[in-house]
Amino acid sequence: MSGNGKQGKILVIGGGISGITVAIEAAEAGCSIVLVEKNAYLGGRVAQSNKYFPKLCPPMCGLEISLRRLRANGRIQCHTLAEVEKIVGEPGNYRATIKHYPRHVNENCTACGACVDVCPVERSNVFNYGLDKTKAIYLPFEAVYPQRFVIDGGVCEGTSCSKCVEACQYNAVDLEEKPRTEEVEVGAVVFATGWQPYDAAQIENLGFGQYSNVITNSIMERLAAANGPTEGRITRPSDGKEIDSVAFVQCAGSRDENYLKHCSGVCCLASLKQATYIREQYPETQIFIFYIDVRAPGRLEDFYAARQEDEKLSIVKGKVAKIEEDPATQDLVVEAEDVFGGGRVSQRVNLVVLATGIVPSEVGVDVPNGLIRDEHGFLVAEQNQPGLLVAGCAKRPVDVSACMRDATGTALKALQNCV
Ligand SMILES: Cc1cc2nc3c(=O)[nH]c(=O)nc-3n(C[C@H](O)[C@H](O)[C@H](O)COP(=O)(O)OP(=O)(O)OC[C@H]3O[C@@H](n4cnc5c(N)ncnc54)[C@H](O)[C@@H]3O)c2cc1C
Repeated sequence: MSGNGKQGKILVIGGGISGITVAIEAAEAGCSIVLVEKNAYLGGRVAQSNKYFPKLCPPMCGLEISLRRLRANGRIQCHTLAEVEKIVGEPGNYRATIKHYPRHVNENCTACGACVDVCPVERSNVFNYGLDKTKAIYLPFEAVYPQRFVIDGGVCEGTSCSKCVEACQYNAVDLEEKPRTEEVEVGAVVFATGWQPYDAAQIENLGFGQYSNVITNSIMERLAAANGPTEGRITRPSDGKEIDSVAFVQCAGSRDENYLKHCSGVCCLASLKQATYIREQYPETQIFIFYIDVRAPGRLEDFYAARQEDEKLSIVKGKVAKIEEDPATQDLVVEAEDVFGGGRVSQRVNLVVLATGIVPSEVGVDVPNGLIRDEHGFLVAEQNQPGLLVAGCAKRPVDVSACMRDATGTALKALQNCV
């Protein structure tokens, strides 16, 4: 492969675990890669999780290995804070327009944090789903790649403030940096744009957005994370109190014609995993998981079986009909069927976690001919069409190891278009 020009070059859109894997596998086989990520950092949703099932190791362990390979490979050009605006062309010969948004912080940044101390403006921390705040100049999270601060241009007071410029002894802050566009020619394009959480506020009967002690599974990942808003303490959002009972509601909005028809495949395992977060902190807390069917395919069944040994974990087959708050205590009352026990149950708990599903991310660009969306909005590459490909959760909801296998196969297909 030449590695020059469009021949031997692949555009990968999305720098989550799937996009990173496509990039490193194809680059190590000799291709040049342009990796475009809209966030200020790589890692996607995995970087936001506390631990991975089934091994329950921190996600940065696995990510760090991939990021080391990425950093070591001179064939990968990595653009964060960038999006693809337009793609034209045909297999073997695409032209893409990339828009680069300003970070306002250059490579001189040592992440020392002197700028944060003087910044007078706060913003909602999107990385923690708005549970806390950062300054307008911030590091998205510890161990972030690239290890560099970023300024939220939507809230920063710019040159009328300039306190961060004065505080930075490395000349790393440029408040006047402007957006710019760039065109690249590539032989293939891989969409690895991943997923976003289904908006739980859409679900009328489960109280999200109405009762502060009803949270989602994605929020639970941040609550349990040591680098999260509570430094890993799982407490009630309403009052910061410890919890003595918690209910997980499976298929919250999923497999339901009114909301999200598909099964997201990972939510059962995610709740079983999150039950271990609770148990680590609260040996006596009663945990309930209300489910329709538990889906733990293949070897993940062992993970499910191991969780069932927890005597204070009740796994109840029954759909949740309604959640209401007791205004006096802000406890929640969960009303559900109990298929095996017969009848209905009404369970009072301190905290409810909705196991909400996965929906495909916006790709931010007109999807070119050759790619279609399935009935759930996930991207599908048309058969025998070698130039436009899809990897990971942009294609269907799957766990990390399935994403990595899929991305490796996708890299192989993309390579065939780039020789
Ligand atoms: C609550 C929950 C817990 C989970 N826990 C586990 C677990 O313990 N173990 C496990 O194996 N799996 C788990 N998963 C699944 C795991 O999160 C996914 O398998 C994984 O995130 C998929 O990676 P991805 O790269 O395909 O997508 P993502 O992680 O979504 O990454 C996609 C990337 O593309 C970027 N992007 C999106 N659109 C654009 C665009 N237009 N332009 C540029 N960039 C773009 C995004 O910013 C993001 O960085 C969990 C899922 C949920 C919902």
